[in-house]
Amino acid sequence: MLPKTKARDAALPVSAEEIAKLLESARPLRRREAFALLSSLSPRRRLNLHEAARLLRTDDLMVWETAAVAARAMREEVFGRRIVLFAPLYLSNECGNSCLYCGFRRENREARRITLSPEDAAAEARFLEKKGFHRLLLVTGEHPVRTQPGYIADVLRAIYRETGMRILHVNAAPMSVADLRTIKEAGAGVFQVFQETYHPETYAAMHPSGAKADYAWRLTCMDRAIEAGFRDVGIGALLGLHDYRFEALSVIRHAEHLLETFGTFPHTISVPRFKHAFGSPLSAAPCPVSDAEFERIVILYRLSVPPAGVVVTTREPAALRERVLDIGASQISAGSKTDPGGYSEGVRRHEAEQFEVDDTRPLEEIVRMVIARGYLPSLCTSCYRRQRTGDTFTEMAVDGHIRDFCLPNALLTLAEFALSTGDASLREECLAAVREGKKGMEGSPLSQEFERKLAQAMQGGKDLHF
Ligand code: SAM
Ligand code: SF4
Repeated sequence: MLPKTKARDAALPVSAEEIAKLLESARPLRRREAFALLSSLSPRRRLNLHEAARLLRTDDLMVWETAAVAARAMREEVFGRRIVLFAPLYLSNECGNSCLYCGFRRENREARRITLSPEDAAAEARFLEKKGFHRLLLVTGEHPVRTQPGYIADVLRAIYRETGMRILHVNAAPMSVADLRTIKEAGAGVFQVFQETYHPETYAAMHPSGAKADYAWRLTCMDRAIEAGFRDVGIGALLGLHDYRFEALSVIRHAEHLLETFGTFPHTISVPRFKHAFGSPLSAAPCPVSDAEFERIVILYRLSVPPAGVVVTTREPAALRERVLDIGASQISAGSKTDPGGYSEGVRRHEAEQFEVDDTRPLEEIVRMVIARGYLPSLCTSCYRRQRTGDTFTEMAVDGHIRDFCLPNALLTLAEFALSTGDASLREECLAAVREGKKGMEGSPLSQEFERKLAQAMQGGKDLHF
C-alpha cells in the first residue's frame, strides 16, 4: 500500500511492483551473452531496463570487469576525460521532518540549529569562490518557516549578486510548480531531489512523519520541476535503505520516465550512500551496500543513462572515489562541509553536521589526484549558460557532441584555476595538464578560437568558455 499522498491520482513515474517483478524474473547474463551486449553499447545504444536487471542479477566478476571498462569508455565518449568538481553549500540544518537516517531530523535535540542569512550564505560562497569553485550545490533542510522557497530564492539572488559564482544548483524539498518556478526564476540551474528509497514500505518506515512522509509527492517532483521551467533535474536513491538492485533499477526507470515524458534524461544521477549521522536513531544501514556493490551501481548508471552526470560525493572514502573515476563517474565534490556556515567557521562542528564526511581532502588535493590519474579536473559551468540543457543536452550527448565542448572548457577553467592558486607546484602541475590536454584540440573546428581564449586565460582572463 502506498502512503497517503497529495498526488494519489497521478500515475507514478516508477512502479515498485513492476521493478520487483522485473528483478525477480531477470535471468543472469551468461558470459558470452554479456560480452556481446557490452560491446554493442554506445551513447545511442544504452543498456535498457531489462538488460540492466539481467546485469544486476549477474555475479560473474569477469563480466563486471568488462562492464567497468565499457562504462569508462562510455563516459569518455560522452564527456571525454574531464571530471567536474563542485562543492555543496549547506544553508540550513533546521528541518520539520523525521527521516530516521539524517542528523537534521527534528527530533535530534542535540543538534545545534543554524540557518544562514542570505548574506551569510554569500560569505560562504565567496570563501568557496576564492578556493576556485564556480558552481555550488545549495542544500537545505525542510523547515516549515525558515527554509521556504522565498528564502532559497533570496539566497540565490544574494550569491549571484555578491559573488562571481557562475551557477548554483539546489537540493531541497519537493515543492509545488509555483514554488519551483520561484526558485528557477532566481537562477537555479539543476533542481535535485533524491527519492531516498523507491520501495514504498521502506519509504514509509524511514519517513514516519512530516511533509516528507508523502512518497508520491516526492516521486512526482521532477515532473513538476520540468513543468516549472527547470531544464535540468537531478535524481538518486540513498543507498543502504533497501535492496540496492531494486533501488538502482528504479533510478534507471525514473530516468527513462523523464526521457519518455519530456525528451530529457536527468542531468545528474547522484550515488549517495548511508553514513552514520550524529543524533540519528539509525546507527547502521538496514541494507548495507559494500564498496564492490557501490561500484556496480556506478557502472550500471553510466551504461543505462549515458548522458547523465554520475555524482559521487565526499561521503565516500578516498580510495573508492578514485576508483569510480575509472568506471564511469563524471562529477565529484571536494573539500565539503555539511554544517551550515562550516567553510567560514573553519573548525569541525559535529553537532551541526548532516553526516560525517569521509574524504576530507581539500580541492587542491583533489585536483592533483584527478590529474595524476590521467583525467582533467573541470570547473566548467558553460552548458547551463549557453543553453545546452534539457533535451538539447541529452541529444547532443548521445550524438557525441557534448565532449567537443567539455575538453576546451575543462582546459580553460583549469588554466584559470592554475593562475589563481597560490601553490606554485600545483600551478605547474595544472599548466602541464593543460599543455598535454591541448593536444586533443588538434583538428577541432574550435581549435583557433580555443587558442585565442587560452591566451586570454593565461593573461588572467576569467570565465572564458564555449
Ligand atoms: N532536506 C531535503 C531532502 O531531504 O530532500 C534536501 C537536503 S538533504 C540534507 C540531502 C540528501 O542528503 C537527502 O536527500 C539524503 O539522500 C541525504 N542524506 C541524508 N542523511 C544522510 C546520511 N545519514 N547519509 C548519507 N546521506 C544522507
Ligand atoms: Fe530533513 Fe532532508 Fe534530513 Fe530528512 S534528509 S531530516 S528532510 S534535511
